[in-house]
Amino acid sequence: MTSPVWHPFFQHGLNEAIPHVVRAEGALLHLADGSTLIDAISSWWVTTHGHCHPRIAAAIAQQAGTLDQLIFAGYTHEPAEEVARGLIALAPRADDQPKLAHVFYSDSGSTAVEVALKMALGYWHNLSLDGAAQARSRILVLDHSYHGDTIGAMSVGERGVYNAAWTPLLFDVDTIPFPAPGREQACLDALEVACARHPAAFLVEPLILGAGGMFVYSAEVLREMAAICRRHGVLFIADEVMTGWGRTGTVFACEQAGVVPDIMAVAKGITGGAIPLAATLATAPIFEAHRSTDRARLFYHSSSYTANPIACAAAVANLAIWREEDVLGRITRLAQAMADRLAALARHRAFANPRQAGTIVAIDLVTPDAGYLSDLAPRLRAFFLERGLLLRPLGNTIYLMPPYCLDADQLDRIFAALHAAGEKFGS
Ligand code: PMP
Repeated sequence: MTSPVWHPFFQHGLNEAIPHVVRAEGALLHLADGSTLIDAISSWWVTTHGHCHPRIAAAIAQQAGTLDQLIFAGYTHEPAEEVARGLIALAPRADDQPKLAHVFYSDSGSTAVEVALKMALGYWHNLSLDGAAQARSRILVLDHSYHGDTIGAMSVGERGVYNAAWTPLLFDVDTIPFPAPGREQACLDALEVACARHPAAFLVEPLILGAGGMFVYSAEVLREMAAICRRHGVLFIADEVMTGWGRTGTVFACEQAGVVPDIMAVAKGITGGAIPLAATLATAPIFEAHRSTDRARLFYHSSSYTANPIACAAAVANLAIWREEDVLGRITRLAQAMADRLAALARHRAFANPRQAGTIVAIDLVTPDAGYLSDLAPRLRAFFLERGLLLRPLGNTIYLMPPYCLDADQLDRIFAALHAAGEKFGS
C-alpha cells in the first residue's frame, strides 16, 4: 500500500525501508512488527532524557486538560513565565557582559534562528531611526553552518544541493572559513576583517557545526570570535539549537568559552524532546531597542503557537529534571564511555577524523564512495536498521547523539555495528 505521507528528504520510491514505530521508551523505539531500534541520534537530536520521560509526559497530560492554547500577544500564563525565568537562570553569564534577560518563544529551531536574525536587524534599524547608528543588514557565518530549513535560516546556512532550488530567494551572507585544526588563526583573521565592515551580526553554532558535517572547534576559538565581535560592536548570535541542553558537556556550549551571546537560539531539548518549543533569548539592549510606544519600532513576529501552554508545561518539567537530577553527571559518564569506544574504533583502518563534543561523536568512513549525493548514506542507514539501530549518516560521516539514558550494553551494540560498517563499507 502506498502512503500519502511525504517524508523530509527521503528518497521516495527507492525501496528504502520505512519502519513503523508504535511506541518509545528511553533510548528504545518499538516497531509495529515487535522489533526494537536503539535511537542513537535522539530522534534528530531532540529527546535528551530519552523518549516518553514520565515527568514530562505527566506535565503534558495535566496541562492539556487545564489550558491548551492561548494567544500570546498581550496575554500570559504561568508555564511561559516559569520557563522564561528558568531559561534566564540557566543561560550563560559573565560579570563583564550584559545578561540574557528576555525570552521570545517560537516553535522550532529554524524559527528561533529567524527570530534571532530579525531581532538583530530590528536592533540596528531602530537605532538608525534615532540616528544612533547606521542601519546594518549583513550577517556573518562560518562555512559548513546549518541553521534550519526556512528561507531565512537556509540563507545563513551552507549552500549546496539541498537548497539549490531556492537560491534565488536566499539573501547574501559573508562566509568566514571554518576554524579547522591548524586554520584557526585564518578564521579569526577573516572574522576581524569582516567585522570591520560593520555587519549586523555574526551567527555561529558554538563548539561544533552540526548538520554541515559535525566539525568541532575549541572553546578558545569561540571566546576569541566573541571578543572580535565585541571589539567591533557586531552582535554575537549563538545558535544553541543542537548544542544546548547539555549536548557538549555544559548546559549551553557558550559557557565553556565564558561567552554571553547578545542573542541565543534554543529549541530541541528545551522540552526534553516531547513536544515542539523554541526560544530566542536576548540581552536588555536588544529588547529595549524594540520597546517603544512608536508602532514602527515594535518587534513584528508572531505565530499561532507562540508559547503554547502545553509545550511550556513540558519545558517546565524539563527544567525541573535539570534542577533536581544529576543530568550533567549522567552526561559526563556517557561522554567518557563514548570517548573510550570511539578511540578503539578510530584504530580501525576504515575510519578517520574521530571527533567529539560531549555526547556527540563523529567519525568519517574512508571509502571511495564518499560524496554527499552518493548512495552511501542510505545504504549505511539500511545496514544500521538491520542491526537494530536508528542512525542517519551525513555522507560518509557517521555520528552519534544518543539520549543521556543510553546504557553500556546499548552503547556496545552501537559501536559493534559501527565496526561492522567499517568492515563492510570501508576501503
Ligand atoms: N540550528 C541548528 C544548529 C540545528 O542543528 C537545527 C536542526 N538540526 C536547526 C537550527 C533547525 O531546527 P529545527 O529543525 O527544529 O527547525
